[in-house]
Order: sequence, then structure tokens, then C-alpha cells
Amino acid sequence: MLDMNSIERHLNTSFIGRYMEYHESIASTNSRAKDLAHQKQEGTVIIAEEQTQGKGRLSRKWLSPKGKGLWFSILLKPDLEADKVYKTTLIGAAAVNEALKDMGIKSYIKWPNDIIVEGKKVCGILTEMSWGRDRVNYVVMGIGINVNLEAEDFDDEIREKATSLKIVTGKEIERNRLLASILNQVEKLYTPFKERGDLKETIQICRRESILIGKDVRLIRGDSEEIGKVLDIDEQGQLVVEYADGKIEKVLSGEVSIRGREGYI
Ligand code: ADP
Repeated sequence: MLDMNSIERHLNTSFIGRYMEYHESIASTNSRAKDLAHQKQEGTVIIAEEQTQGKGRLSRKWLSPKGKGLWFSILLKPDLEADKVYKTTLIGAAAVNEALKDMGIKSYIKWPNDIIVEGKKVCGILTEMSWGRDRVNYVVMGIGINVNLEAEDFDDEIREKATSLKIVTGKEIERNRLLASILNQVEKLYTPFKERGDLKETIQICRRESILIGKDVRLIRGDSEEIGKVLDIDEQGQLVVEYADGKIEKVLSGEVSIRGREGYI
């Protein structure tokens, strides 16, 4: 089981994770964080052993079996313009990647919201927000990590594109410590963003650890699909894609799903 005292011992943050709400079972940590958003302070973390209605992007389902993963949401309240805030997803991705690196696990970032180990997804991030007039009211960053899941925990559809840290390392991973390490990284990368919109370090990490740069990918928007080559992630955090006709496009996070030419990646 997760242990709030142990998590706290490993935290070196000033506000991320200083208030945590723990659930043995919950529908969705993102939904709970949204319900609490107005009454709780920035940095509040909602964490659950199990989600019964975990969510991915575009209303897809996120598998979150009991006691085997880290399923949590962080409440953020950046006072930034609307067009900047959707980039918070990249902070989550960079933070998870850095925390895994500190544990000796080599992972890659699949822009903008997934973490990949050995070609399969170990972590997904779902950022949801609420808008005021031209500013954001709050952002909920939901992070799901397959920590100690076994191959049998995945159903057939997910198994070909998903894996867990235990499957790739052959070892049970201590979840409390990993969670604290991720929260520490989130605060480090989020603080300059909150204070002055600065995402430099985050984007550096997303670029350096990108699994997409240099690859031909399928870009899926609704029913339409295009093939392009990923050239870069620019200083705004947008994916720079070149199509066969030479046209170059900068893609905003959230508007597409990206897949490898043949398989998941
Ligand atoms: P993508 O980023 O791949 O477009 P989403 O962010 O929408 O996808 O994530 C939802 C998808 O991830 C689901 O449709 C399912 O195929 C897959 N999935 C669901 N649960 C898990 C999990 N625990 N680990 C890895 N993949 C999962």
C-alpha cells in the first residue's frame, strides 16, 4: 500500500504534494481534483490505489488496477494566458522521465503526453483545465504510471502497446519513493513556468529524450490520417512536422494522436 508518511519523507518540495488526499478506490483522480479545485491549494495531490473509471485523452479508458500503479492528479493554479497553459502536460512528461532516469530506467518521451520504455507505454498524462475569461482557473495534471503491473494485468488490446516498470526491470518498484521523486521534479520544472512562463528546461528534456524526432509518424486527427516526418520540438514546445510535399507544420499538443508508421511507435 501507499504510505503518506514515507512519501513525505522523500519530498523536498515547498508546495507540490504538501497536501495529499489518499483513496483506496476512486472513479478518477482527475475528476476528484476538479471537484476540489476551488477549495484546495495549489499543489494538492489526489492519489488512489485504484481507479474504476480512469481516463485517457479523447474519453479513452485508462487501466488502473489496484495497488500496482501510481494513479494521481496534481492541482495547479498558474496565472498565465490561455495559450501557454496547455503546455503543462510537457512538464509532467519531463518530470516523469527525469525521475525514471534517476532510478536507472531509460525512458523516452512520446510528445506530448506519454512515456515509453522498450517501445511501449509505461505512463500517460492527461491534463484538464478550466477557463476563466482569458486566464485559466486551474489545471489538473493527471499522471498514470504502470509500476508493478504484470503482463496478465493488461487486456489484449493494451498489451501490445503497454508495459510496466516491473516487466522491464524484472523487479518490484517502491511506489512511495518514485512518487515523491516525480513530485520533486514537477515542482522544479513548474516553478519557472508559473513565475515567468519559462519552459526552457522542460522543453530541453522533451527534445533530448524524444522518441519521435527523426521518425516518420502517422498524425491522426479524428478520421483523417497523414504521414509526416518529425523534425523537432521547437522552443514553444510544438512538434515540427514535415510532410511529403515539403510543407512544414507546427503541431500544438492535444490536437492529434501520433503513431508509428506500422505499430504503436
Ligand atoms: P494516446 O496518447 O496513445 O493517443 P491516450 O493518452 O488517450 O492515448 O491514452 C488512452 C489509451 O491508452 C487507451 O485507449 C488504451 O489503449 C491505452 N491504455 C489504457 N490504459 C493504459 C495503461 N495502464 N497503460 C498503457 N496504456 C494504456
